[in-house]
Amino acid sequence: MSDLVVPHGVVIALAGVFGLLIGSFLNVVVHRVPAGLSVVRPPSACPGCQHEIRGRDNIPVISWLLLRGKCRDCKMPIPARYPVVEAATGVAFALTAWRFTDPVLLLASLVVVGAGIGLALIDIEHQRLPFAITRVTTILVVLVVVAGAATGSEIDWRAVAVSVASWGGLYALLHYGSGGRAMGLGDVALAPVLGLVLGLVGWPAALIGLFAGFVLGAVILMPLRVTGRIGRRVAVPHGPFMLAGAALGLFVGLPLSDMYARVVGLA
Ligand SMILES: [Zn+2]
Repeated sequence: MSDLVVPHGVVIALAGVFGLLIGSFLNVVVHRVPAGLSVVRPPSACPGCQHEIRGRDNIPVISWLLLRGKCRDCKMPIPARYPVVEAATGVAFALTAWRFTDPVLLLASLVVVGAGIGLALIDIEHQRLPFAITRVTTILVVLVVVAGAATGSEIDWRAVAVSVASWGGLYALLHYGSGGRAMGLGDVALAPVLGLVLGLVGWPAALIGLFAGFVLGAVILMPLRVTGRIGRRVAVPHGPFMLAGAALGLFVGLPLSDMYARVVGLA
Protein backbone atom coordinates (compact mmCIF):
# COMPACT_ATOMS: atom_id res chain seq x y z
CA MET A 1 0.00 0.00 0.00
CA SER A 2 1.54 3.26 -1.05
CA ASP A 3 0.14 6.34 0.68
CA LEU A 4 -1.10 9.28 -1.30
CA VAL A 5 0.59 12.62 -0.64
CA VAL A 6 -2.79 14.39 -0.32
CA PRO A 7 -4.41 13.99 3.15
CA HIS A 8 -6.86 11.08 3.20
CA GLY A 9 -9.79 13.29 4.25
CA VAL A 10 -9.29 15.49 1.19
CA VAL A 11 -9.20 12.45 -1.10
CA ILE A 12 -12.46 11.18 0.45
CA ALA A 13 -14.17 14.58 -0.01
CA LEU A 14 -12.94 14.89 -3.63
CA ALA A 15 -14.11 11.34 -4.38
CA GLY A 16 -17.53 12.23 -2.92
CA VAL A 17 -17.88 15.31 -5.15
CA PHE A 18 -16.64 13.33 -8.16
CA GLY A 19 -19.23 10.66 -7.29
CA LEU A 20 -22.04 13.24 -7.33
CA LEU A 21 -21.03 14.23 -10.88
CA ILE A 22 -20.71 10.61 -11.99
CA GLY A 23 -24.13 9.94 -10.43
CA SER A 24 -25.56 12.73 -12.57
CA PHE A 25 -23.95 11.15 -15.64
CA LEU A 26 -25.32 7.71 -14.60
CA ASN A 27 -28.85 9.14 -14.68
CA VAL A 28 -28.23 9.93 -18.36
CA VAL A 29 -26.61 6.52 -19.00
CA VAL A 30 -29.44 4.57 -17.35
CA HIS A 31 -31.99 6.48 -19.41
CA ARG A 32 -30.22 6.47 -22.79
CA VAL A 33 -28.01 3.36 -23.16
CA PRO A 34 -30.89 0.81 -23.04
CA ALA A 35 -32.66 2.90 -25.71
CA GLY A 36 -29.54 2.83 -27.90
CA LEU A 37 -29.06 6.62 -27.67
CA SER A 38 -25.82 8.61 -27.35
CA VAL A 39 -24.84 9.58 -23.79
CA VAL A 40 -23.15 12.75 -25.06
CA ARG A 41 -25.64 14.25 -27.50
CA PRO A 42 -28.11 15.89 -27.39
CA PRO A 43 -27.81 17.76 -24.06
CA SER A 44 -30.40 16.78 -21.43
CA ALA A 45 -33.83 18.33 -21.89
CA CYS A 46 -37.05 18.33 -19.89
CA PRO A 47 -39.29 15.52 -21.20
CA GLY A 48 -42.30 17.75 -20.53
CA CYS A 49 -41.44 21.00 -22.34
CA GLN A 50 -38.25 19.97 -24.24
CA HIS A 51 -36.36 22.95 -22.76
CA GLU A 52 -32.66 22.21 -22.53
CA ILE A 53 -31.54 21.85 -18.87
CA ARG A 54 -29.52 24.96 -17.91
CA GLY A 55 -26.09 24.49 -16.34
CA ARG A 56 -27.20 25.96 -13.00
CA ASP A 57 -30.16 23.53 -12.93
CA ASN A 58 -27.85 20.57 -13.51
CA ILE A 59 -25.88 20.68 -10.23
CA PRO A 60 -26.20 17.25 -8.60
CA VAL A 61 -28.77 17.06 -5.74
CA ILE A 62 -28.62 20.86 -5.07
CA SER A 63 -30.51 21.90 -8.23
CA TRP A 64 -33.28 19.39 -7.55
CA LEU A 65 -33.68 20.77 -4.02
CA LEU A 66 -33.64 24.43 -5.17
CA LEU A 67 -36.18 23.66 -7.92
CA ARG A 68 -38.27 21.73 -5.35
CA GLY A 69 -38.28 18.76 -7.70
CA LYS A 70 -39.96 20.59 -10.60
CA CYS A 71 -38.85 21.78 -14.08
CA ARG A 72 -38.08 25.52 -14.01
CA ASP A 73 -40.08 26.09 -17.21
CA CYS A 74 -43.13 23.82 -17.17
CA LYS A 75 -43.16 22.76 -13.49
CA MET A 76 -43.30 19.08 -14.48
CA PRO A 77 -42.15 16.99 -11.48
CA ILE A 78 -38.56 15.65 -11.68
CA PRO A 79 -38.53 12.17 -10.09
CA ALA A 80 -36.71 11.98 -6.71
CA ARG A 81 -34.82 9.04 -8.18
CA TYR A 82 -32.42 11.46 -9.92
CA PRO A 83 -31.01 13.18 -6.79
CA VAL A 84 -31.12 9.83 -4.96
CA VAL A 85 -28.86 8.19 -7.60
CA GLU A 86 -26.53 11.23 -7.45
CA ALA A 87 -26.32 11.21 -3.64
CA ALA A 88 -25.89 7.42 -3.50
CA THR A 89 -23.05 7.52 -6.03
CA GLY A 90 -21.38 10.36 -4.08
CA VAL A 91 -21.58 8.36 -0.84
CA ALA A 92 -20.38 5.18 -2.57
CA PHE A 93 -17.35 7.00 -4.04
CA ALA A 94 -16.49 8.61 -0.68
CA LEU A 95 -16.72 5.18 1.01
CA THR A 96 -14.49 3.66 -1.66
CA ALA A 97 -11.86 6.37 -1.11
CA TRP A 98 -12.14 5.87 2.65
CA ARG A 99 -11.66 2.10 2.26
CA PHE A 100 -8.80 2.06 -0.28
CA THR A 101 -5.67 4.19 -0.26
CA ASP A 102 -3.72 2.15 -2.79
CA PRO A 103 -4.10 4.17 -6.04
CA VAL A 104 -4.60 1.15 -8.34
CA LEU A 105 -7.18 -0.46 -6.07
CA LEU A 106 -8.92 2.89 -5.48
CA LEU A 107 -9.21 3.81 -9.18
CA ALA A 108 -10.21 0.30 -10.28
CA SER A 109 -12.81 0.17 -7.49
CA LEU A 110 -14.26 3.58 -8.40
CA VAL A 111 -14.72 2.38 -12.00
CA VAL A 112 -16.63 -0.76 -11.01
CA VAL A 113 -18.61 0.99 -8.26
CA GLY A 114 -19.81 3.66 -10.71
CA ALA A 115 -20.50 1.18 -13.51
CA GLY A 116 -22.10 -1.21 -11.02
CA ILE A 117 -24.68 1.36 -9.87
CA GLY A 118 -25.64 2.11 -13.48
CA LEU A 119 -25.74 -1.57 -14.48
CA ALA A 120 -27.82 -2.61 -11.46
CA LEU A 121 -30.43 0.08 -12.24
CA ILE A 122 -30.58 -0.94 -15.92
CA ASP A 123 -30.80 -4.65 -15.08
CA ILE A 124 -33.69 -4.05 -12.63
CA GLU A 125 -35.55 -1.98 -15.20
CA HIS A 126 -34.72 -3.80 -18.45
CA GLN A 127 -33.44 -7.25 -17.37
CA ARG A 128 -30.16 -6.82 -19.19
CA LEU A 129 -26.59 -5.67 -18.69
CA PRO A 130 -25.60 -3.75 -21.86
CA PHE A 131 -22.31 -4.92 -23.39
CA ALA A 132 -21.44 -1.29 -24.20
CA ILE A 133 -21.13 -0.49 -20.50
CA THR A 134 -19.38 -3.76 -19.58
CA ARG A 135 -16.87 -3.21 -22.38
CA VAL A 136 -15.97 0.36 -21.32
CA THR A 137 -15.74 -0.76 -17.67
CA THR A 138 -13.39 -3.64 -18.55
CA ILE A 139 -11.17 -1.44 -20.72
CA LEU A 140 -10.88 1.24 -17.99
CA VAL A 141 -10.03 -1.28 -15.25
CA VAL A 142 -7.44 -3.05 -17.44
CA LEU A 143 -5.86 0.35 -18.24
CA VAL A 144 -5.70 1.24 -14.52
CA VAL A 145 -4.08 -2.11 -13.65
CA VAL A 146 -1.59 -2.00 -16.55
CA ALA A 147 -0.67 1.64 -15.77
CA GLY A 148 -0.27 0.69 -12.09
CA ALA A 149 1.98 -2.26 -12.90
CA ALA A 150 4.03 -0.12 -15.32
CA THR A 151 4.60 2.53 -12.65
CA GLY A 152 5.73 0.07 -10.02
CA SER A 153 2.55 -0.85 -8.10
CA GLU A 154 2.76 -4.32 -6.63
CA ILE A 155 0.09 -6.55 -8.10
CA ASP A 156 -0.48 -10.14 -6.99
CA TRP A 157 -0.94 -11.58 -10.48
CA ARG A 158 -1.60 -15.08 -9.16
CA ALA A 159 -4.55 -13.82 -7.05
CA VAL A 160 -5.81 -11.82 -10.04
CA ALA A 161 -5.59 -14.88 -12.32
CA VAL A 162 -7.38 -17.16 -9.80
CA SER A 163 -10.09 -14.54 -9.32
CA VAL A 164 -10.72 -13.76 -13.00
CA ALA A 165 -10.76 -17.49 -13.84
CA SER A 166 -13.18 -18.26 -10.96
CA TRP A 167 -15.60 -15.46 -11.79
CA GLY A 168 -15.43 -15.91 -15.56
CA GLY A 169 -15.44 -19.71 -15.29
CA LEU A 170 -18.39 -20.07 -12.93
CA TYR A 171 -20.62 -17.64 -14.80
CA ALA A 172 -19.72 -19.14 -18.19
CA LEU A 173 -20.42 -22.63 -16.81
CA LEU A 174 -23.83 -21.56 -15.47
CA HIS A 175 -24.74 -19.87 -18.74
CA TYR A 176 -23.55 -22.49 -21.22
CA GLY A 177 -24.31 -25.44 -18.93
CA SER A 178 -27.96 -24.38 -18.65
CA GLY A 179 -28.40 -23.44 -22.29
CA GLY A 180 -28.66 -19.78 -21.25
CA ARG A 181 -31.54 -20.33 -18.81
CA ALA A 182 -29.70 -19.98 -15.48
CA MET A 183 -27.62 -16.95 -16.43
CA GLY A 184 -27.69 -14.34 -19.18
CA LEU A 185 -24.78 -13.54 -21.46
CA GLY A 186 -24.66 -10.04 -19.90
CA ASP A 187 -23.72 -11.59 -16.55
CA VAL A 188 -21.04 -13.75 -18.23
CA ALA A 189 -19.53 -10.67 -19.90
CA LEU A 190 -19.48 -8.69 -16.64
CA ALA A 191 -17.98 -11.45 -14.45
CA PRO A 192 -14.28 -11.19 -15.50
CA VAL A 193 -13.90 -7.46 -14.71
CA LEU A 194 -15.50 -7.94 -11.28
CA GLY A 195 -13.08 -10.84 -10.76
CA LEU A 196 -10.18 -8.64 -11.82
CA VAL A 197 -10.93 -5.85 -9.32
CA LEU A 198 -11.66 -8.30 -6.47
CA GLY A 199 -8.46 -10.17 -7.36
CA LEU A 200 -6.54 -6.98 -6.54
CA VAL A 201 -7.94 -7.25 -2.99
CA GLY A 202 -6.97 -10.94 -2.83
CA TRP A 203 -8.36 -14.31 -3.85
CA PRO A 204 -10.27 -14.98 -0.56
CA ALA A 205 -12.14 -11.68 -0.96
CA ALA A 206 -12.78 -12.58 -4.62
CA LEU A 207 -14.31 -15.95 -3.73
CA ILE A 208 -16.38 -14.43 -0.88
CA GLY A 209 -17.72 -11.82 -3.32
CA LEU A 210 -18.43 -14.45 -5.99
CA PHE A 211 -20.49 -16.71 -3.73
CA ALA A 212 -22.09 -13.84 -1.79
CA GLY A 213 -23.97 -12.91 -4.99
CA PHE A 214 -25.69 -16.30 -5.10
CA VAL A 215 -26.32 -16.38 -1.33
CA LEU A 216 -27.87 -12.88 -1.44
CA GLY A 217 -30.03 -13.88 -4.40
CA ALA A 218 -31.28 -17.02 -2.62
CA VAL A 219 -31.86 -15.31 0.76
CA ILE A 220 -33.79 -12.41 -0.77
CA LEU A 221 -35.73 -14.30 -3.46
CA MET A 222 -36.62 -17.51 -1.57
CA PRO A 223 -39.21 -15.91 0.76
CA LEU A 224 -40.71 -13.94 -2.13
CA ARG A 225 -41.02 -17.11 -4.23
CA VAL A 226 -42.39 -19.26 -1.39
CA THR A 227 -45.05 -16.71 -0.47
CA GLY A 228 -45.95 -16.32 -4.14
CA ARG A 229 -45.12 -12.61 -4.25
CA ILE A 230 -42.88 -13.48 -7.20
CA GLY A 231 -44.28 -16.24 -9.42
CA ARG A 232 -42.23 -19.41 -9.89
CA ARG A 233 -41.77 -18.75 -13.58
CA VAL A 234 -40.96 -15.05 -13.30
CA ALA A 235 -37.31 -14.46 -14.16
CA VAL A 236 -35.52 -12.10 -11.77
CA PRO A 237 -32.30 -10.48 -13.03
CA HIS A 238 -29.19 -11.81 -11.30
CA GLY A 239 -27.06 -8.74 -12.11
CA PRO A 240 -27.97 -6.69 -9.00
CA PHE A 241 -27.17 -9.69 -6.73
CA MET A 242 -23.93 -10.37 -8.59
CA LEU A 243 -22.95 -6.70 -8.14
CA ALA A 244 -24.05 -6.58 -4.48
CA GLY A 245 -21.96 -9.71 -3.81
CA ALA A 246 -18.97 -8.11 -5.54
CA ALA A 247 -19.43 -4.95 -3.42
CA LEU A 248 -19.50 -7.11 -0.29
CA GLY A 249 -16.30 -8.90 -1.34
CA LEU A 250 -14.65 -5.59 -2.22
CA PHE A 251 -15.46 -3.78 1.03
CA VAL A 252 -15.52 -6.52 3.68
CA GLY A 253 -13.99 -9.55 1.94
CA LEU A 254 -10.60 -8.94 3.52
CA PRO A 255 -11.77 -8.58 7.16
CA LEU A 256 -14.14 -11.54 6.66
CA SER A 257 -11.40 -13.85 5.34
CA ASP A 258 -9.03 -12.71 8.14
CA MET A 259 -11.70 -13.48 10.73
CA TYR A 260 -12.31 -16.90 9.17
CA ALA A 261 -8.57 -17.66 9.17
CA ARG A 262 -8.37 -16.77 12.88
CA VAL A 263 -11.42 -18.89 13.72
CA VAL A 264 -10.06 -22.00 12.01
CA GLY A 265 -6.60 -21.33 13.38
CA LEU A 266 -4.74 -20.60 10.16
CA ALA A 267 -3.45 -17.27 11.38
ZN1 LIG B 1 -40.19 21.31 -18.47
